[in-house]
Amino acid sequence: MENKKELRNWLDAFGLDHPLVIAGPCSAETEAQVLKVAHQLKDTDATVLRAGIWKPRTRPGNFEGVGALGLKWLQKAKEETGMLTTTEVANPHHVEHALKHDIDILWIGARTTVSPFMIQEIADALQGTDKTVLIKNPVNPDLALWLGAVERMYTADIKNLGVIHRGFSSYEKTKYRNNPEWQIAIELQNKFPDLPLILDPSHIAGRRDIIFDLCQTALDLNFDGLMVETHYDPDNAWSDAKQQITPATLVQIMKDLKIRKEVS
Ligand code: PEP
Ligand code: MN
Repeated sequence: MENKKELRNWLDAFGLDHPLVIAGPCSAETEAQVLKVAHQLKDTDATVLRAGIWKPRTRPGNFEGVGALGLKWLQKAKEETGMLTTTEVANPHHVEHALKHDIDILWIGARTTVSPFMIQEIADALQGTDKTVLIKNPVNPDLALWLGAVERMYTADIKNLGVIHRGFSSYEKTKYRNNPEWQIAIELQNKFPDLPLILDPSHIAGRRDIIFDLCQTALDLNFDGLMVETHYDPDNAWSDAKQQITPATLVQIMKDLKIRKEVS
């Protein structure tokens, strides 16, 4: 895969700003919750609403998502607010459901990017569509695996692509839930400067108080966007309660960030 400007066509096609801001809850919980947070985000910098429907929990026994039912809630949120929608797909069945419900952007989670088999199956399921796909880094710090997933999509003729940096797991306890290892994202950016690069500060941080600093670092490094987990009642969220912020906090963060002008 060579670096190609066509990789970022979807940003223009959707009329998305710089930086692109994706926000919304870790998980869709109820229809009312999805609609409430979407309305609170409507007049902010966030132009894309995120919500996980199928939740890849590391260990069983926790909330595993509402399933395909939640796709209808995202559709309704789009109709009511005009926001674009995005959700995680982890297998070809998810892709089929998401296509049927016209979800605008699909993202691939860190636990899926580690599996070339699954990535290939998802790429095959998407072939012939013009869907936008954002690929999170794998859980382990392996740039080749991340790039391999991008290449499998590109080879399946999926050209509306982007990558999401969500940090890398480590056995050591640090202040991060997943270490940023910025050098890996920078290496990817140097190789493919036209591949939109989005920061997910929420899963790097695992906590609220360092979200701002992570966002500022990413913008200083010329990232193209942010995906921030946002909930109107973070403490009572059904997943990732510690790291979610309110829409009001997101507005404040966007106000305080020093945003570099895009250099094209
Ligand atoms: C998420 O975005 O809620 C999620 C599960 O992310 P990740 O794949 O980065 O762990
Ligand atoms: Mn989450």
